[in-house]
Amino acid sequence: MDYSREDIKKRISPNSRVLIVTHKNPDGDAMGASLGMYNFLKNMGCTVNVVTPNEYPRFLKWLPGNAQVTVFNSEKTKAKNLISKADTVFCLDFNSPGRAGEVNFSLTASKAFKILIDHHPDPEPFVDYTLSDVTVSSTAELVFRFIEWLDCRELIDHAVAESLFTGIMTDTGCFSYNSSQPETYRVLSELMKMGVDKDKVYDRVYDNFSEERMRLLGYCLDKKMVVLPRYSTAYISLTKKEKEKYNFAIGDSEGFVNYPLSIKDISFAALFMENDNGVKLSFRSKGDFSVNDFSRRHFDGGGHKNAAGGESELSMEDTVKKFCSLLPKYFGEDD
Ligand code: 5GP
Ligand code: MN
Repeated sequence: MDYSREDIKKRISPNSRVLIVTHKNPDGDAMGASLGMYNFLKNMGCTVNVVTPNEYPRFLKWLPGNAQVTVFNSEKTKAKNLISKADTVFCLDFNSPGRAGEVNFSLTASKAFKILIDHHPDPEPFVDYTLSDVTVSSTAELVFRFIEWLDCRELIDHAVAESLFTGIMTDTGCFSYNSSQPETYRVLSELMKMGVDKDKVYDRVYDNFSEERMRLLGYCLDKKMVVLPRYSTAYISLTKKEKEKYNFAIGDSEGFVNYPLSIKDISFAALFMENDNGVKLSFRSKGDFSVNDFSRRHFDGGGHKNAAGGESELSMEDTVKKFCSLLPKYFGEDD
């Protein structure tokens, strides 16, 4: 069924109970888009809540509205209650209910009107209304466009603007990838005109790491990075023990997977992180090689063409072995 702008507006009219959900292991775009939407909907007069499936990095905890976020894993009863009471649910920055982790079950059971705003390929039809565009830098940019489409520009205040700016900044690696559309800069310009201090946002996100995180990065690059020039590939693996040694906190490995890609002639990078359930994988590529396809096919994952993730229930050793055994098929002669 097609919904008009007026139909959608009715779903977020004053006093409606709206819930915002984002994906597991939320990143800057997930939180920026969610809190941008949160602050906007509050300005609309809605009763709004944000639920994340699990914890998110400390460097995002300054975002306006952060204190209102409910982490499903830590507060299940409260989160389930919020989901079941919502009239409207926004699903932001994910394309499949499974990406919402455990929230998936409450989400599927909910009778609320569901709106998906996302930029991942091939969104699944689990919602009532979809705004999806893979060519757009970030979900945060799509949220801005959504608000404009609703004709509600005047409700974008500093809190909304700062959150959305953070989402765009982080999902483009500070405007280095997914950021070749002029429209992105129009949106950024509008947000800056609303008073966003770009340098302040940068400082809070990128100059806020612990000393241990910096040392862990040094260790990864010096001791743990494996470069396979023959396959234009490089990867880093980190065991639970190594993470513990560096007092690992959620978010500490953010960005690590991008470093190998800056080596000349390396076009495929992977990061393997051991956790309690197995190994979490991150993939990045340059050019035509789709890590989304690779991850979907071999590691039960997905994402974008040049940035994707997945999971493995094998041991670290076997996961790395499996990964390496796939390389000849994709990059070079099978001998
Ligand atoms: P990252 O490597 O930064 O965790 O994720 C890169 C991209 O892949 C993001 O768009 C993220 O949503 C997606 N992604 C990460 N892990 C998974 C996963 O396990 N499954 C799917 N479908 N997508 C993932
Ligand atoms: Mn995103």
